[in-house]
Amino acid sequence: TFKAILVSRDAEKKQSVAVTDLTEADLMEGDITVAVEATTVNYKDGLAITGKAPVIRRWPLVPGVDFAGTVTSSSHADWRKGDKVILNGWGVGETHFGAYAGRARVKGDWLVPLPDGMSPHDAMAVGTAGYTAMLCVIALERHGIVPDRGPVVVTGAAGGVGSVAVSILSSLGYHVIASTGRNAESPYLIELGAAEVISRDELAQPAKPLAKERWAGGVDAVGSHTLANVLSMTSYGGAVAACGLAGGMDLPASVAPFILRGVSLLGIDSVMAPKAVRMEAWRRIGTDLDHQKLASLSTTIGFDDIIGAAHDIVEGKIRGRVVVDM
Ligand code: NAP
Repeated sequence: TFKAILVSRDAEKKQSVAVTDLTEADLMEGDITVAVEATTVNYKDGLAITGKAPVIRRWPLVPGVDFAGTVTSSSHADWRKGDKVILNGWGVGETHFGAYAGRARVKGDWLVPLPDGMSPHDAMAVGTAGYTAMLCVIALERHGIVPDRGPVVVTGAAGGVGSVAVSILSSLGYHVIASTGRNAESPYLIELGAAEVISRDELAQPAKPLAKERWAGGVDAVGSHTLANVLSMTSYGGAVAACGLAGGMDLPASVAPFILRGVSLLGIDSVMAPKAVRMEAWRRIGTDLDHQKLASLSTTIGFDDIIGAAHDIVEGKIRGRVVVDM
């Protein structure tokens, strides 16, 4: 048997969370079984465990959208017992039993190899949040937003996506403006490479159609008024990668930045991203994310701390990334 977190709901659709013992026979279908060595708590995992948003769509369910570990059995051509693997997304922790268990059974097609030189712990310090930050950076680059074009803004900067985005962008030579609601985290953000730290409040008011041009691009983890303001302050021909909704799912913006400044809004999804895109993002994480910064932006907890961390992350109390050592 192994320990697992199981989210259930009763006849009145009231959700409950329990730590329980499962066996491999309890796991869902798949052609690979993995011994989970490390996992993490993303914002989405917080929403799932607290029930604040309908992330879970099958009951009961083991949550957890990310894991790294070792293959214990495989009937998939690409993987053998002993292989070190990473899983991010694909509905794991939403519709398929996820990471918060000693074992996971998944489809081999969902896995990517653990990059050379990276431990399961490192991979979960990155996690979906960090891999999404990398997808955002790649999207900006594809749009021609290189460091010479001007500053880039990162919203929700002290969170998981934000901290990794600040680190990667600064390592690549961008002038990074970090927006945070936690002023006390300014020294942390500067340590990660932010050139400037601004208050979240500056971007929280209803946005004007156009405002003074402040940046060539951005990575937005917040949505709502924040994203609308980021767009209205993006300079001519710039682009903003939108990946999050920590401030709301709405987008109270106007078309002015798009039609008068040629600004582009780049949508980023990590969950169903094809394998080639994932492989490229993980390769770039290996080359462009400083190991020391990765260590300084992550904290480590144990299995028994997952539920508490899930509540903390939806309350905006978690700094950077949380790694769970199983
Ligand atoms: P996180 O660690 O909680 O970071 C979110 C950050 O947003 C917080 O740390 C906080 O940063 C800021 N924030 C929180 N509440 C806010 C509010 N009401 N108004 C303004 N800012 C607020 O979460 P995460 O795991 O990095 O995820 C960030 C977002 O990206 C989430 O919405 C998540 O669902 C989304 N996401 C999407 C994808 C995708 O595939 N598209 C993948 C991963 C994550 P400060 O304290 O610095 O202000």
